[in-house]
Parts: sequence; structure tokens; C-alpha cells
Amino acid sequence: MSDDIRASIGLRPVINVSGTMTSLGASIVVPEAIRAMAAILPQFVEVNDLQRKASAIISRLTGSEAGFVTASCSSGISLAVAGAITGPDLLAIEKLPDAAPEKNEVLVQMGHVVSYGAPVDQAIRLAGGKVVLIGQATSTHRFHMENAITDKTAAAVYVISHHVVNYGLLHLTEFVEIAHAKGVPVIVDAASEYDLKLFLAQGADIVLYSGHKFLGGPTSGIVAGRKELVRNAFLQNMGIGRGMKVGKESIFGVMAALEAWETRDHDGIRERETSYLHLWKQTLDGRPGVTALIEPDPTNNPLDRMRVIIAPQEAHITAWDLAAQLRSGTDPIIVRDHEVEHHYFYLDPCNLHPGQETVVAERLAEELDKARASNEIIASPIEDLSRHRFDGMLRWPD
Ligand SMILES: *Cc1c(COP(=O)(O)O)cnc(C)c1O
Repeated sequence: MSDDIRASIGLRPVINVSGTMTSLGASIVVPEAIRAMAAILPQFVEVNDLQRKASAIISRLTGSEAGFVTASCSSGISLAVAGAITGPDLLAIEKLPDAAPEKNEVLVQMGHVVSYGAPVDQAIRLAGGKVVLIGQATSTHRFHMENAITDKTAAAVYVISHHVVNYGLLHLTEFVEIAHAKGVPVIVDAASEYDLKLFLAQGADIVLYSGHKFLGGPTSGIVAGRKELVRNAFLQNMGIGRGMKVGKESIFGVMAALEAWETRDHDGIRERETSYLHLWKQTLDGRPGVTALIEPDPTNNPLDRMRVIIAPQEAHITAWDLAAQLRSGTDPIIVRDHEVEHHYFYLDPCNLHPGQETVVAERLAEELDKARASNEIIASPIEDLSRHRFDGMLRWPD
């Protein structure tokens, strides 16, 4: 494509079949948001008034009392926690993250302390929060949480994600019930969730979303919930929130993305994604050592993905070497490979431009044919994956 901006600056034209990844530029921003951003960029606005307008739209879509836009969901966690710690105390807001008020403990289930690219607990500590882990990696019971709540408990954070342990933990409704019985607000990280109403409806006091994931907005985060708590989080813009600030274009861009969400053809998109999955299944079915399964999203988002399981003896390549092959060359295809050590990766259809599904199918066929034709089994040691994971990052910018 000659009008591809990436070629003009020497970037590889990656095709993203891995989902919504910060490292790949999050998502395809919807045209409504792009137009809104371009329209507001040359204008001055009173930013807090713009945030008032955002609050109204956020409330309409989430069912919250108030809301605002910040730099990311990650900063939303820090701002919401900071607000729960300081309340509207302006001096305390300036002093964070040092000299946090006494009441700064934040409960999190151990099985929720994951990395979304950075650790969940760090977003809490940045806000002066003292993380109090409850339960064990694969079990939290009522008694863990009930006994962890003290006079110093400022908030409890709950994470919705395919990354968290998916059994043995407290469900949100029970988590909320236990917290509310002792007057503790619940902050839900729902960065990558489709349902904008569910978690507040289940009793969360604040819910956080990424603007740049399913919504297809600019890089940003949405904070929504009870008015007083949202305001206390908003006030952090005079403190730790300053370094997480969001510009007028992102505020207005998210507003447009939210409005577009209301009229988006969700069923049509699902149908198109399903047709991609069927194409890939046709391409892969019957190939030696390859099993292609269509699976629902683990957190119930209306999205299916394809699990591609590779038996190296028959396919003549491991799942991770296949992922690496697809990622290499001039037209890289990035698959969802965070569980690749188990001999499978996923193909996520939600961030493709029309036509790219065919390129993906062709490349899969090509790489699998090549591997099958190879006399040796292409199998680099799995340990190399973790050993070399950060090599590129540590060499950056070279
Ligand atoms: C993506 C993600 C985040 C981070 O969101 P950003 O908006 O990119 O900061 C936090 N939590 C979960 C569960 C996520 O999936």
C-alpha cells in the first residue's frame, strides 16, 4: 500500500492478530474519533468543562454518576486509588505518593496481581497505596477479605482480565458485598471489557476502562462511578495525575468513540470476525500436527478467537517457532502467544482491516508448508523465549 504512512518512516507494516496490544499501538481508532480529534486540536478549550461534557457521556454509557478521561486505564487505577486515600484534601493530594494519609491500605486478591505490561500493584503503590494481598494465588475466601479490612483500608481493587486466575477467587458481587459491609469502596479494573454497565450494576463504586481497546478511541482511560469518588480521583490532576495527563484531543476523541459505540454495528462486526475464523479454520484443518479450535473469550466479551495447537513432531515446527516465523520478514504477522509454552497460540480477529484475514491465511499456509517440507523439526529450546524476552528492549534504541 503506497499510502501506508508506516513505509514512509521505515516501519514494518505489521498485521495484528494478537488483540489489543499497547506494544502494537492498541487498536484501530474509529473514524468518528479521528475526526473529533482533528477538529479540536487547533482550538482552545476550558479543559475541565470538556471533562464535564465527557462526564455526561460516560455516565450515559456506563450508568455512572460521573466520569472523566485520563491517560490510560493504568493511570485510572492510580488516580482512583489516590482519590480513595486522600479524599478531597488538596494538601494530601500534593504530598502523594509520600506521606499518604494513614488510611492507605488497598486490598487485592493475590490471584489478581497480574501484569498488563506493568504490575497491577505498582499502579496502586504509585498512588501511595499500601497493597494488602488477600488469599493465595488460586484461592480467596470470605474470611481472607473480612479479616483484612481494618480502619486503614482505603479501597479494594478487583481486576477483570484473562490474565487473572480464573477459579477459586471471590466473584465481584461477593467481593463488593464484603467490602460494602465495612464501608470500603470497590475499584474495578475492566480495561479490556466490552460491557460498560455490568460492573457498576454489580455494585462497583468505580470502574475503569481503556479508551483504546474495544472502544477504538485514542490512547486513554475512562474513570466512571460514584460522583464523590470520581471527583476525588479527578482532583489528583493537581497531583500525581499531572504526569498522566490527557490532552483535549484524547478527551474529545474518547467522547466520540463512546458515541460511536452506541450506534456501532456490533452484530455485523461479530459476523465479520466469525467469517475470518472460518477462513483460518479451513486453511488449517487437515494439516498434519495442526488443530484449530474456535473458542469464546475467557471474560465473556462477545468475541471468539482461534486456538492453533501445534504438535511439533507432525508439523515439523513448534508453536513458538511458527509464531516467530510469522513475526519475521517484511510483512510481519503478530499472533497472540502469551501461552505459547503450552504448544498453542491464538489468532484474534478483532483488529484486522478487511483483506488482512486472507494475508494471515496465506502466511499460515506458507509457513506450515515450509516447515512440513523441512527434514528437521524446527524446535528452538523453550527456555530461550524467557531468556531473550527483553533483549530487544534492553538494546533500545539500537
Ligand atoms: C490493558 C489493561 C490495563 C492497562 O490499560 P491501559 O489503558 O493500557 O493502561 C490494565 N488492566 C487490564 C486488565 C488490562 O487488560
